[in-house]
Amino acid sequence: MAGKLYLVPTPIGNLGDISRRVAETLAGADFLAAEDTRVTVKLLNHLGLKKPMVTYHRHNCDTAGPAILRRIQEGESCALVTDAGTPAISDPGEDLVALCAAAGIEVVSIPGPCALTVALSASGLPTARFTFEGFLPLNKKNRRAQLEGLADEERTMIFYEAPHKLRATLDDLAAVFGPDRPLTVCRELTKLHEEVLRTTVGEAQARYAAQEPRGEFVLVVGGRPPQAEVVEGDEDAALARVAQLRGAGMPLKGAAAQAAEEFGLKKRALYNRALQGERETDDNI
Ligand code: SAM
Repeated sequence: MAGKLYLVPTPIGNLGDISRRVAETLAGADFLAAEDTRVTVKLLNHLGLKKPMVTYHRHNCDTAGPAILRRIQEGESCALVTDAGTPAISDPGEDLVALCAAAGIEVVSIPGPCALTVALSASGLPTARFTFEGFLPLNKKNRRAQLEGLADEERTMIFYEAPHKLRATLDDLAAVFGPDRPLTVCRELTKLHEEVLRTTVGEAQARYAAQEPRGEFVLVVGGRPPQAEVVEGDEDAALARVAQLRGAGMPLKGAAAQAAEEFGLKKRALYNRALQGERETDDNI
């Protein structure tokens, strides 16, 4: 009979966050798949455990994944652990889960520490609806494009970020969301120097321009405030403004965005209406 894959969350900074179920699952597993065995051995020492381990990380997951799956299919149970937090959240664990799930292996996820939920719950921003964006792409152009895609996002947004990229990311956030957008910077969560800074994008930019970012960060960004639905009177004035900006040579998208901003209307709705108007004008010529 096949074994199971256990997803075992480990502390993101505070060893006190190891639950009894986590310790029991690690003790009961036949072997551990660890992101970095040197990190995991410290955790095992803390728990007084010794377990056979294999490595599973983003540089070997293509070969290590099938090898782990084979052992599970042959009856062994595997506990997957990463350096910190919940496996499969912004780490290659997701591939192993997909592989095992596709092969019909039972995957048991143990609840526990995860930087995303710790940050969101402490952020002071709306939590009812949110979107987890993980790490933004490294490439500047792709990063900006991904953020542009979130320009109209009304839900709270959560990003993971490395300290050496924090300043560039804050600059990008300011460019896309504006400096006044609420931002909670969560640093070194559950650790000695834990900090939850409820601020704005612009203020965070200023702070980290003056001070070297250190430690691990989660950025929780407030969503765009809901905008008034397009109402006829405003819309006519906004369309007139679009026409004026178009006359001055501005592309339709930019003109609609600027007019929508000026009149407090929805960008996309105004753009669609203006586009429709331009098409109708073309048809009539
Ligand atoms: N699987 C992990 C989880 O459950 O949160 C995340 C792994 S991801 C490779 C590592 C990122 O998580 C870090 O770059 C940082 O953005 C965030 N992170 C992890 N621990 C953190 C902490 N103690 N404080 C703030 N952010 C943390």
